[in-house]
Amino acid sequence: MRLILKTLEIQDDNKKLYDICFDSSFEHLEDKLRQIGISERKVCIITDTNVAPLYLNDIKNICKNIASKVVSFVFEAGEANKNLSVIEKIYEKLILEKFDRKDYLIALGGGVTGDMTGYAAATYLRGISFVQIPTSLLAQVDSSIGGKTGVDFQQYKNMVGAFHQPALVYMNLNTLITLDDRELAAGMAEVIKHGLIKDKKYYEWIKNHKNQIVAKEYDILEEMVYKSCLIKGEVVEHDPKEQGERALLNFGHTVGHAIEKLKNFKWLHGECIAIGSIAAAFISLNKGWISQWEFDDIKMTFNSFSLSLKAEDLDIKDILYTTKSDKKMDAGKVKFILLESIGNAIIYQELSDQEILEGIIACI
Ligand code: NAD
Repeated sequence: MRLILKTLEIQDDNKKLYDICFDSSFEHLEDKLRQIGISERKVCIITDTNVAPLYLNDIKNICKNIASKVVSFVFEAGEANKNLSVIEKIYEKLILEKFDRKDYLIALGGGVTGDMTGYAAATYLRGISFVQIPTSLLAQVDSSIGGKTGVDFQQYKNMVGAFHQPALVYMNLNTLITLDDRELAAGMAEVIKHGLIKDKKYYEWIKNHKNQIVAKEYDILEEMVYKSCLIKGEVVEHDPKEQGERALLNFGHTVGHAIEKLKNFKWLHGECIAIGSIAAAFISLNKGWISQWEFDDIKMTFNSFSLSLKAEDLDIKDILYTTKSDKKMDAGKVKFILLESIGNAIIYQELSDQEILEGIIACI
């Protein structure tokens, strides 16, 4: 067990916004919460029905040492509950417990918990502070960083939301031990994406450490989560509101989101992103930017982390139509993220339907 607390600082215009802490336990959480000013404030810990029995008591006990009052809100786990009805219940709880502007929310769980807690924090009383304690791999390497918060609306994913930065992100990497293998694999889709879009060496490192990652070796997971946060952190620092470079993080998401929607959110986000990444890599191959060998290697890398679902039952025209209605359209054009080379992604908006269709055929 490590005792060293690693910290990464996220800045905006050279001003510190928040720390991301990487720990092997929750040992340093109390100190960190004191540093951001939780002492004598009310705290509401928001979590889901899977994570609550595992970690809620630990966090409650830590908060009880510093906060004036600690309450919790537990919702049914799953993407289907990332909606405005649950947000309403959170508002109700906060009003009944008399939460004011100086009180805090804590998101304890995966990306669903983080996105919803962040959105509740962004909107309750026009904005209160919140802390992210991400416990899934996807939340640790991706959703807890960067301040994107929101909920799904009807069948439209992440359609309602706000940018709202956390006051602190604190991850105990040993929470990954209780995460099931399918969820770990889904998180790996975003990790592989970080290598593909920004850092070829990291992509090679991921492939070379596949066995240790799957076996959840602590030191390797720590190195990986830290490196991924470094990449995501740098991108969001340069472009906090997605006016440009941040869109690169959507590699695999254009077709991926379409498949996620057509599968009625029964497949995990990361599983669909892996499929979408193969489509984007194939289009990059067709452009002559990456080689056949590199395309096969990308496909094999996703497959080696059990990301090999096939959406053969879906109609390719439906996938194309849904891809083109993605909310990330810009002036009526689909914003595709392609690979100019491995480790170097670009935003491309000039794809024909035929080129997109060829990518879709290659991935399903
Ligand atoms: P999730 O929150 O549903 O978590 C996945 C599952 O793992 C859930 O059943 C959860 O209860 C369980 N779980 C979480 N941590 C656990 C642990 N340590 N032990 C055991 N079980 C655990 O989903 P997710 O994959 O973490 O996140 C997906 C969500 O994140 C999607 O809604 C997606 O839109 C969103 N997202 C947001 C951003 C952003 O920038 N805000 C980025 C990427 C994804």
